[in-house]
Amino acid sequence: MNRVLIAGARVWDASGAAPFAGDVLIEGNRIAAVSSGPGQLPVSGCQVIEGRGMTLMPGMTESHAHLSFEAVTSTEDLITPPPEEHTLLTARVAKVLLDHGFTSAWGASEAKLRLGVAVRNEVNAGRLPGPRIRAGSLEITVTGALGDESRLHNPRNGPSIVVDGPEEMRKAVRLCCREGCDNIKLDVSGDPFYPNTPAHSTPMAFEEIRMAVETARSFGRRVNAHARSIGSIQACVRAGVDVLYHCEYTDEATLDLMEEAKDRIFVAPTVGLFHTMLHEAAPWMTHETAVAMGIDSLLEESKKTHTELRKRGIRHVIGGDYGFAWSKHGTNARDIGFFMQDFGYSASEALLCATRNGGLMMSMDSKDKLGEIKEGYLADLVLVDGDPLADVNVLLDAQRLTLIMKDGQVHKNATGAARQRAAA
Ligand SMILES: [Zn+2]
Repeated sequence: MNRVLIAGARVWDASGAAPFAGDVLIEGNRIAAVSSGPGQLPVSGCQVIEGRGMTLMPGMTESHAHLSFEAVTSTEDLITPPPEEHTLLTARVAKVLLDHGFTSAWGASEAKLRLGVAVRNEVNAGRLPGPRIRAGSLEITVTGALGDESRLHNPRNGPSIVVDGPEEMRKAVRLCCREGCDNIKLDVSGDPFYPNTPAHSTPMAFEEIRMAVETARSFGRRVNAHARSIGSIQACVRAGVDVLYHCEYTDEATLDLMEEAKDRIFVAPTVGLFHTMLHEAAPWMTHETAVAMGIDSLLEESKKTHTELRKRGIRHVIGGDYGFAWSKHGTNARDIGFFMQDFGYSASEALLCATRNGGLMMSMDSKDKLGEIKEGYLADLVLVDGDPLADVNVLLDAQRLTLIMKDGQVHKNATGAARQRAAA
């Protein structure tokens, strides 16, 4: 069994406690022991990785991953690539996430049904580098809503399955399950990209959502929902959806309903995309275009809602909709800073959303836990040349991530080079 000792690092264990100087022993794919204070764990037979001067933290979880999106500027970029090229693209993105400290990726949805599935299988078999992956399905939507790209005169398929009524929903979810998806994605509310169904509208019906959840459960799968409107959030919580995305529009009753479900649901505000659409998307999208789409007011609603949800103890998770030309994969950790700036989280609380909450989400259906540095937990670890509690943006610099370990396997070890840099 491989044994690795990470010695003398400043350990931030994501338990909520303050960091401490200590050693962490990894045996096989698990954390075997954690000691505060140096020299207490056995070093014989271990590969010793010197962690002095660096911060050891759990790997992060991207909670709304689109592994098949790479520099997307329109839905055309999701529809037109042939599956062969698209599969290679998806594999590239998986590696980019792991290279940036994301040891887990919870699939939101993919541009084609089996892209996440195929890459997950290769990663799990150890043949491709990538994070732990829960494969997202195609988006499932209803006629006329987000993802339905067809018109009466032009029946083109969007990056989605269009269903109407519970029976068609049942069939679509079963199809996604048969093809190997772990997470089923429903487009429940509207969206600013689709003028016929704006963000505050709720085109999918409760009976359709309920059927999707029941069917996914019967296969042991989980359900994600695109839910911006009050109606969509309420219907998703009542129907038993597991992961709610976006959630900008709320009222007191909706906040209460979410709070009551806080030990069951996870919520990803996906706030980074608003910032990049408003300020960093030119030339593809100007600030004026983003404002005309209502992105600035959605951001204001998001700040209000998620600040309130933070106070109510909702399990927020970071990431979301990275993979556009203006929100490249690898910058996903920017969400941590946005959580602080927009929702009032402290650095350590925002980092808990990225690590502990993400780990809880990934291990919902497993007895193998992850997301904290704790004896018995899966060994997904990142050693940072810097102090993310003092400046969360050090996590955006891949060079500063000197050690990346997933499932006890070293994906990257540049601790020697970092020490040489420091000495020079
Ligand atoms: Zn998305």
